Amino acid sequence: MLAAFDLVGNASSVHADGRAARELVERARAAVAALVGGSAENVVFTSGATEAANLALTPELSFEGERTDYLLVAATEHICVLQGHRFSASQVIRLPVDRNGCLDLAALEHWLKHHRVPVMLALQAANNETGILQPIAEAAALVHAHGGIVVCDAVQAIGRIACSFATTSADALLISAHKFGGPKGAGALVFKHDRWHLNAPLLRGGGQERGARAGTENVAAIAGFGAAAGVIGAVDERLSHWRDQVEADLVDFDPAAIIFARSGPRVPNTSAFALPAIRADTLLIALDLAGISVSSGSACSSGKVRRSHVLEAMGIEPTLASGAIRISFGHASQEGDAGRFSETLRRVVGEMRARRWSSAA
Ligand code: PLP
Repeated sequence: MLAAFDLVGNASSVHADGRAARELVERARAAVAALVGGSAENVVFTSGATEAANLALTPELSFEGERTDYLLVAATEHICVLQGHRFSASQVIRLPVDRNGCLDLAALEHWLKHHRVPVMLALQAANNETGILQPIAEAAALVHAHGGIVVCDAVQAIGRIACSFATTSADALLISAHKFGGPKGAGALVFKHDRWHLNAPLLRGGGQERGARAGTENVAAIAGFGAAAGVIGAVDERLSHWRDQVEADLVDFDPAAIIFARSGPRVPNTSAFALPAIRADTLLIALDLAGISVSSGSACSSGKVRRSHVLEAMGIEPTLASGAIRISFGHASQEGDAGRFSETLRRVVGEMRARRWSSAA
């Protein structure tokens, strides 16, 4: 990224300075393609997964000449999918999930059999709040059998589990660089093959990114994205060890603690839990004061805590959901962080409970 900041050229210019910038962009494109088992010419760089979702989820995207009439989504998709698509409201079908947040495959199959129309399914590989893994390959098989296409939000899965076109069977993947060590504000929409056409790009103009995303490329961010894609290798086994340690400590501390989606398949780094009668926003502040950053409900840009649509779709009671805290380990986590978290949690929750008892008395 530092090398890119030093380049004065625009990646679309033909002079040597421009070609130097272009080389960084194309190197990154090849690294991102290799990460998911795709080919470089089908990588469209964007400002992140939100933009990639807005770009892909439209009836104006055709695959092998076919367009889609409906968008099917799991009720637990990220808000950038639920709100970022460009289908009309009557063309969007929300599919139910079970108590762990896993897509109800029978409901998907039932809908496909009864409607027999070309659909686009948007299904995430892993959920950002609970870490639950979706049965993406099984869902893709059903959709493909009915002539539809599958767009997989792979943001939370990449770098945490094996995640590629081969493992998901998706036709397109949404990726975000900052989830695996790259810079914030870089992402990609990656197509499986080159028989796609976007009649309605979001940004029109100079024709960059094969006409799918006009505008001068953010070369430094793209270079950082490519560098991160090139170095994430085998999944770090320590992540699940740390996460499991925190969960074991939590249940040991308070057997009434609820860990969401614990009995389902999850990414190794994420845990979402609630402690009875402890509000998430109060706990978040207490942990923050103790130097630990966690999220409550759905983290949201306005700084307000909204009710989690994910927990709601899973059938979690609102009072319990209002206590939901999310923690995640990542590339920056270190040995000792899990123990430090458990100790701090015990202390701050103990203090919160003691204060409540003394004010009640
Ligand atoms: N999808 C999931 C599952 C996410 O967790 C996020 C961000 O946290 C996004 C999409 C949006 O990604 P970006 O921040 O790159 O727009």
